[in-house]
Amino acid sequence: MARIVQKFGGTSVADTDRIRAVAEKVKREINVGNEVAVLLSAMSGVTNQLVAYVDDVSNLYDAREYDTVVSTGEQVTVGLLALVLQGMGIPARSWLGWQVPIRTDNVHSKARIKDIESAELDKRMKAGEVPVVAGFQGLSAENRVTTLGRGGTDTSAVALAVALGADRCDIYTDVDGVYTTDPRIVPHAKKLERVTYEEMLEMASLGTKVLQTRAVEMAMKHGQRIQVLSSFEDVPGTLVVDEDEIVEQELVSGIAYSRDEAKITLVSVRDQPGVAAAIFGPLSEASINVDMIVQSVSGDGESTDMTFTVAENDLERAVETLKALKDQLGCDDIMFDSNVVKVSVIGVGMHSHAGVAQTMFGALAEKGINIQVISTSEIKVSVLIDEEYMELALRSLHAAYGLDAK
Ligand code: ADP
Ligand code: ASP
Ligand code: MG
Repeated sequence: MARIVQKFGGTSVADTDRIRAVAEKVKREINVGNEVAVLLSAMSGVTNQLVAYVDDVSNLYDAREYDTVVSTGEQVTVGLLALVLQGMGIPARSWLGWQVPIRTDNVHSKARIKDIESAELDKRMKAGEVPVVAGFQGLSAENRVTTLGRGGTDTSAVALAVALGADRCDIYTDVDGVYTTDPRIVPHAKKLERVTYEEMLEMASLGTKVLQTRAVEMAMKHGQRIQVLSSFEDVPGTLVVDEDEIVEQELVSGIAYSRDEAKITLVSVRDQPGVAAAIFGPLSEASINVDMIVQSVSGDGESTDMTFTVAENDLERAVETLKALKDQLGCDDIMFDSNVVKVSVIGVGMHSHAGVAQTMFGALAEKGINIQVISTSEIKVSVLIDEEYMELALRSLHAAYGLDAK
């Protein structure tokens, strides 16, 4: 007997037929004697609609009320699945985040799970009941509903798996595993049988949304096994594992992209000590994360251009914050562009091999794609390019690294 946590994403619970199919997957585990807890997302499209409602009534909204609204989609699906399971003779009940409770910090709209009181779930699972838990939501110390950031049900699932001491955490989605790049954009993408926590973490944080970054982080920290697999097809998925469980390590394991990027250029700021601190300090105080940064060499020795990226939905606030600093920085102009994407090549083999970045630059040059900003780390190279060339860039890079499926 094993203890399994099953997570189903939005397309996997898109309507009542899909929810019945989910119930069959739960039943299959029950039939072989396993204990099962289920985590669900909202029906696909519902969370986007809820976010749009909030945006429609308020642009600089109170994040506590945002969470109250956007967390509701999951309440519908957990109730429905509990009903379907009951109808099949399987004891089941729904649990909202506050009922478990799943305790989080109070950083609304991107809260972190601090603790899950899982004793009651544990007891009921031992007695044969299936808890059907709402993903994406939790409860703050102030007793307010919080949400964990988009894609947060992955994190709810891993956190619950850790709390319940689950043998497996199965992430069911609309693709049958983790691929070398998004299979919806590059049809030649290859499915990875295994991927290391490190690579998956890098891929997720660089935009691969098949798993939320925080979920991978947590799985890695606790050694929780996760498997990504299809809720539509019965085929083996991808296991996320330790590095020593990988037999043959590819140099480049994946290519990620993120559309959620915006570029800001401060034209002609003073080239003197303290300028970077004067720019990035106030942004950080406003909880705006800055990602890629380039500072050009100054022609006159007195001023320089500073270009950097922020998340697209932080752009407005970032520009407002910078406008207030314009005089202090001696800055001529603030330019910004949200029609950019970040494309990244990832591989743990990279730190011991030269030439990975050069292959990337060469492949992009051959297609006439201009690189606007570059950043690197031990296991990745990222470039910022015009959004229009994203698909072309992904396909060319995929081929250039020899990743295309035969
Ligand atoms: P869910 O609703 O099940 O959580 P998501 O939409 O969050 O599903 O994540 C699955 C999607 O991730 C896929 O439909 C796919 O388009 C996208 N994706 C991006 N990069 C990859 C990749 N390298 N491998 C697999 N899927 C990827
Ligand atoms: N429903 C939430 C979202 O769309 C959480 C999730 O699906 O993981 O972001
Ligand atoms: Mg998701």
